[in-house]
Amino acid sequence: MLASLALLLSFPQESTEPWPVTGLPREDLVCEAILAEAEKDNQVMDHLRELVDGIGPRLTSSSNLSEAVSWAEDRFLDFGIPNVRRVQWGEFPVGFDRRLMQGRVVEPIKMPLILATRAWSPGTDGSERGPLLLGPSNDEELEASRGSFQNSWVLLTGTKSPRFDSDADNFRARLGKFFDEEGIYGTVRIARNELVLTGGRYKIDWNDLPTRTQVTIPKEQGRKLAQFLEAGEAVEVEFDLDYQFTEGPIPQWDVLAEIPGSDKADELIIMGGHLDSWDGATGTNDNGTGVATTMEAARLLAAAMRETGQQPRRTIRFMLWTGEEQGLLGSLAYIRQHPEEMERISAVLVHDGGTNYLSGLNATPLLLPLFEEILEPIDRMVSAYEGDEIRFRIKEVDTLPLGIGSDHDSYLRSGVPGFFWNQAGESNYTYVHHTQHDIYDNAVPRYEEHSAKVIAMSAWRLANMDQMLPREDILNRNRENNRSSRNRKMLGVFLSEDDGLLIDRLVKDGLSEKAGLKPGDRFTEIAGQKLSSQGDLRRALREDEDIKQIAILRDGKTLKSTFNWKEKTATPLEEEMVAE
Ligand SMILES: [Zn+2]
Repeated sequence: MLASLALLLSFPQESTEPWPVTGLPREDLVCEAILAEAEKDNQVMDHLRELVDGIGPRLTSSSNLSEAVSWAEDRFLDFGIPNVRRVQWGEFPVGFDRRLMQGRVVEPIKMPLILATRAWSPGTDGSERGPLLLGPSNDEELEASRGSFQNSWVLLTGTKSPRFDSDADNFRARLGKFFDEEGIYGTVRIARNELVLTGGRYKIDWNDLPTRTQVTIPKEQGRKLAQFLEAGEAVEVEFDLDYQFTEGPIPQWDVLAEIPGSDKADELIIMGGHLDSWDGATGTNDNGTGVATTMEAARLLAAAMRETGQQPRRTIRFMLWTGEEQGLLGSLAYIRQHPEEMERISAVLVHDGGTNYLSGLNATPLLLPLFEEILEPIDRMVSAYEGDEIRFRIKEVDTLPLGIGSDHDSYLRSGVPGFFWNQAGESNYTYVHHTQHDIYDNAVPRYEEHSAKVIAMSAWRLANMDQMLPREDILNRNRENNRSSRNRKMLGVFLSEDDGLLIDRLVKDGLSEKAGLKPGDRFTEIAGQKLSSQGDLRRALREDEDIKQIAILRDGKTLKSTFNWKEKTATPLEEEMVAE
């Protein structure tokens, strides 16, 4: 719930009336059942372990990813999700699997090496052990060292990295050609810091596979080896990189699991993450955590529906995309193949920011009043947490941010409200993102358990509101149209829990106090609009004009004042003049 509103308006939670803007129930039995099930048996960490330790990293085009697609389908079916299917979105030219990736220093000390190599790049032919040498740093050295690099590893120390397959007339191009002619095992590059990152280019040709092995090791280990070499000590290293290329095309799929809706079954709510990962570690934070929370949310929701006998109004689709790391390929291709779905999708929510807990969502001015009602059960859940830093907050934005770089972007570009959950917590995403540290032990169970509940409840609430989410202002770059978000108008009161229009207390120096309003006064009209609920009140306040007449009822009489939010003034309350 938005802090600034919560401060001034306290919602009447006892009422059994549905929420005024969305028609959602105030006491949501399914949300309660989700929480009860999660309390009894939250399985999110089990899903995560099965995926990232049981199956492992999931590079798009790898056999691990195919296994993960089947695993996800099976698990969704186990949870009782009725409609589970995979949709092929495309194919990769060549498959790539890493079976083993290890390296060590043999001389002058024994030391295992931390390392990365790019995906779809070659490994070694069995274990390749040989001297580690510094490469030549100019043409003279190059000519003098001909014939001495065969079956050796070459430590690249910064400026002198070779350029392969280049006809340019410069030293780096000559160095590339030299290494090819010499027949080196491969090159060893030193990373900028202690993180070794995995990336890679998938557009390769089966008939012309890459042939040069290029290893990256972290800065500290690299410096140590460079010091030995610079001191004239012989260094011997050994790498065993057992990689396999598979002739394509290799078909790629997104996984879809749907809970069918009832009266609005054509409309969709999509909750998801991406099943693929880079393969330098086990793809835990990116994006095993998002897969695990999506799956646990599906399980919790299915259990809660069985418990209560309720069904969502819209269809809830849990979606696991692949090819995300190569440029949102699985979501973009799916959207191209299913353009007719776009106008029926109310919202897409993507959890792809690692293990930190889901801490809120962005909302545009049009979304804000809806989100206050949709997400209210989450707000309540979080306020009941004890001794815990977890918070939940709706953040007001002019437009939804594009370019965060996950699958919601693909939808947002098609005009569909696409959200990337805001996240907070103690995990340092930079430390794990695409690095050697992205492993199961760097996921935080408490956060994962929280996030699964947030996703389950949000899916349910979004699916049951009266309307689809408005999309008029999600990508609107014209700030003038969004001015209402800038000048929110506060009445300067706390409203009663039981009657959303009745003043309980006044805020010191607020406009209501300036006008002479008192506890017990009840708002009846704003800017000529009759009020029958707090939703009416908030809607009337949100309208543009900075000056509005306010009417209240006190002792059976109507009193009026004019509030001016721009000047922060209010005229003294006056009894309504009745025409004679
Ligand atoms: Zn990701």
